[in-house]
Amino acid sequence: MARHTFFAPLCIRRFFVAKKAWPLFIFFIFLFSLDGCSEPSDPEKIVYPRDEDLFAIFPNDLALGDSVDAHLSTGIMMVVHPGGHYKLSFGVDSTHEAPKMQLFRVYPTPNGKYGMSKIETLKPQISGGRYVFSFVCEENQRSEWMLTLVEDDDYYKGRTPNVQFEGDGIYSDTLSLNLISVGLIESIEGAPSMDSLARLLVRAFRENYSTFVIDTIYVNRAENHPTLGQNYPSDKHWHAGVSSQDMSLSELGNWPAKGVESALDIVLVHRIEELNVLGFAGLFAANLVGGMGSTVVVGSHALSASGERPLAAAEIVKIAVHETGHFFGLRHTTSTWADLEGYHDLSILEDGLEDTPSCPELLRSGLYKKGESTGARDYYVPNRAYKMMDAAGYSIAFNPDDCPDGYLVMFPVSSEKTMKSFSGQQLKLLKRNLMLIPH
Ligand SMILES: [Zn+2]
Repeated sequence: MARHTFFAPLCIRRFFVAKKAWPLFIFFIFLFSLDGCSEPSDPEKIVYPRDEDLFAIFPNDLALGDSVDAHLSTGIMMVVHPGGHYKLSFGVDSTHEAPKMQLFRVYPTPNGKYGMSKIETLKPQISGGRYVFSFVCEENQRSEWMLTLVEDDDYYKGRTPNVQFEGDGIYSDTLSLNLISVGLIESIEGAPSMDSLARLLVRAFRENYSTFVIDTIYVNRAENHPTLGQNYPSDKHWHAGVSSQDMSLSELGNWPAKGVESALDIVLVHRIEELNVLGFAGLFAANLVGGMGSTVVVGSHALSASGERPLAAAEIVKIAVHETGHFFGLRHTTSTWADLEGYHDLSILEDGLEDTPSCPELLRSGLYKKGESTGARDYYVPNRAYKMMDAAGYSIAFNPDDCPDGYLVMFPVSSEKTMKSFSGQQLKLLKRNLMLIPH
């Protein structure tokens, strides 16, 4: 049995920060080496991913960045879903023979470590000057796979320009919502009850997510959860992010009631315990069946330098719509400094979509530098790059009218003028990704 040293701690950290595949963080936190790699059963040499520079790619993301081009041959991780049809392609390098692709499944082993088993070796088709590798995910749940590109029993040395990763799924385009309030929530301006907030939420989702069928919205209180309710007393404010464990409240996902299990869980807390952060969700968290990555978190208040600021219902709804965009795989239209730091890839300045402009003015403004870590929870905070910033919280003159993408929901800074709608390409991407995710 080969013991295959694979992840160094730095790589783990880098990987998880790099693409915010944060559900995997717990998965790998104690992992310093892999064992349990499968024995080769055929004469083909298995070329395992190299133990550095691990980046993840998400389906239908058009901003994969230079780092993916640079590291595709030596090991890239993918998040895949049952029944999904996937296509990974890149430009032909005519100075090399066509590479083969080796696909690996990553799995936990009984000793608390993780192993990899090779799934298959693929040969590409050539189409339009590109190598195209097609495969189907035959797992029974959301899984993490890795790939390497191989020539002559070693990593492929040719260039891999303009990587694209596409996925098409088998699930419905219908989505229900589950609004879960946690702890004491004071009266919200514009929504005197949770039911009225839910009505505003479902209306906004139907308006914005026009390529989804938004079915039902359920309303639940964390204190009424049949097994976890006692953890969320109704007379206390809940501050998400006081510790890394309570950040996303993912234990409340997969709410145990008929019909609610596979709804998108939108968790409303008193506030998020990070300066000027209004909401968060993982990029392509893509999990509607509970566990890590299964929640979108919003606050009824924002923590500010002078204390806290109450949010009106309209703003809470807008934040929930924005964060849900991340959940289904949308990036910010213009990257923030936190995004660039998070990706570890300075080439991803915007989302890669042709019909979403980006904003040089935001890049130039001081606001671009905000959203950096407040220190205490640096690399270990999931979703760090996907928090929405509160323009009102910074005393920086910033006019959203200067930003051609200010009207789009995935603009990274919330202000009164910003975030009205999705673009056509964003709507297509959202639907495609929803249909990949079991629900
Ligand atoms: Zn965001």
